[in-house]
Amino acid sequence: MSDVTSPLPVVNHWIDGQEHVSNSGRTAPVFDPAKGVQTKSVALADASEIAAAIASAKAAFPAWRDTSMAKRQQILFTFRELLAARRGELAEILTEEHGKVLSDAAGEITRGLEVVEFATGFPHLIKGEYSENVSTGVDVYSTRQPLGVVGVISPFNFPAMVPLWFFPIAIAAGNTVVLKPSEKDPSSANWLAALFAEAGLPDGVLNVLHGDKEAVDGLLTSPDVKSISFVGSTPIAQYVYETATKHGKRVQALGGAKNHMLVLPDADLDLAADAAVNAGFGSAGERCMAISVVVAVEPVADQLISKIVSRVAGLTVGDGRRSCDMGPLVTEVHRDKVASYIDIATEDGATVVVDGRGIDVDGDADGFWLGPTLIDNVSTSSRVYTDEIFGPVLSIVRVPSYDAGLELINASRYGNGTAIFTNDGGAARRFQNEVEVGMIGINVPIPVPVAYYSFGGFKDSIFGDSKAYGPDGFHFFTRQKAITSRWLDPSHGGINLGFPQN
Ligand code: NAD
Repeated sequence: MSDVTSPLPVVNHWIDGQEHVSNSGRTAPVFDPAKGVQTKSVALADASEIAAAIASAKAAFPAWRDTSMAKRQQILFTFRELLAARRGELAEILTEEHGKVLSDAAGEITRGLEVVEFATGFPHLIKGEYSENVSTGVDVYSTRQPLGVVGVISPFNFPAMVPLWFFPIAIAAGNTVVLKPSEKDPSSANWLAALFAEAGLPDGVLNVLHGDKEAVDGLLTSPDVKSISFVGSTPIAQYVYETATKHGKRVQALGGAKNHMLVLPDADLDLAADAAVNAGFGSAGERCMAISVVVAVEPVADQLISKIVSRVAGLTVGDGRRSCDMGPLVTEVHRDKVASYIDIATEDGATVVVDGRGIDVDGDADGFWLGPTLIDNVSTSSRVYTDEIFGPVLSIVRVPSYDAGLELINASRYGNGTAIFTNDGGAARRFQNEVEVGMIGINVPIPVPVAYYSFGGFKDSIFGDSKAYGPDGFHFFTRQKAITSRWLDPSHGGINLGFPQN
């Protein structure tokens, strides 16, 4: 980092294997949310910087594509070792800029590390197929090849894990990358790029371009960028999908969520209450797989609520560098927006059981605080129910039956994650079959699939048909060639204008 425009440090781009000092004259503030103060600025790229990042990736592509699999694998293994050894440094950056508590930051890095480990097995995952003698003397085989320069655009809530969902797989498969991180917590992307360089990644294979809509639009419209992997809110995901596909790109755009947890009367209510609290308030509810609605099948609601309330009373909120359960929200604007839903709940006739405003915190008074909030009797027409709030606000909706709960979940415009809590295997089996959601937990609250499966939802939670990482990841970042070959055999020559048949 170097300081070009203000007394605060500036987070600059990482282009062609080194820091690239921005001259755009535009920056955005980066806060320490637990202190409520601006600690850095981040550069916002202009057209020349966007072009420089794409050009760097384009120049690096031919040599990287042709680098042996063994060499690529060795660099990935070294990156994995460095990341595992130095994850503590990254966790501190995450906590300082995002606000999540250190243990949660460490968990995020572990899940990202899993994808690096998965990516090291890429030679097996991009193998082609071979069929001998499909016609006499004719063989057919396939090969999967990288796309070229690929763009990755990530959200604020997982500044390390979401980039790690994509760039290790893209790079393993032979692509070169321009990563555009969230401007709210930009430093971890530079840290990861510098670490990969230390592991031996050639210059230009992974570039970090900081910016806002201008940088995103530059990637979406550049003819040199062959694909876009986006994660963020639904309106922007849809915009990214529509714009980038219009410009001829392969696109995977993961959007927002409103995840329901269905609790049946036969569930273990202590387990369900633990799960609701962990998945509702972990990372201050700023997870795309957070549980934001508990759908309680009567008569469990009262008992479940009292168990949730007693657990919430034991939670400590404060600076993530101390031993707290929950940190602040990412910005003051976001905190105020999330808190405004508590007023909306009251106006819409819901019952605010626990109000997180004005709670005691173990941190600076100016931090962007909002404590765990629990709202009962939420109407499905209220914006508390229909909007993705993305904060520590957990709604309870009471329903009379499993069928009513299922209907509610399936009527949601989102379909990212869901969970069912029950001791009835038949009900759980029905649920996994009938629910229109991409990732399902059965007595598991945050069912983020392991790295060798793929991550993604249904409906307005994803645009495009490729999920993140796992087998879909390698499929997305490669394209297949099918080769039909015949080595000279004079007996098969001759003129024949008919369509080739075997
Ligand atoms: P966001 O949509 O505001 O921003 C995501 C990215 O898009 C950022 O890099 C940002 O700079 C860029 N961006 C913002 N506005 C833009 C615009 N008008 N034009 C072009 N680019 C723009 O999302 P966020 O607030 O950073 O992240 C939270 C959201 O991400 C939530 O909705 C959450 O559910 C979602 N999310 C989804 C998943 C998933 O896997 N489905 C995972 C994590 C987060």
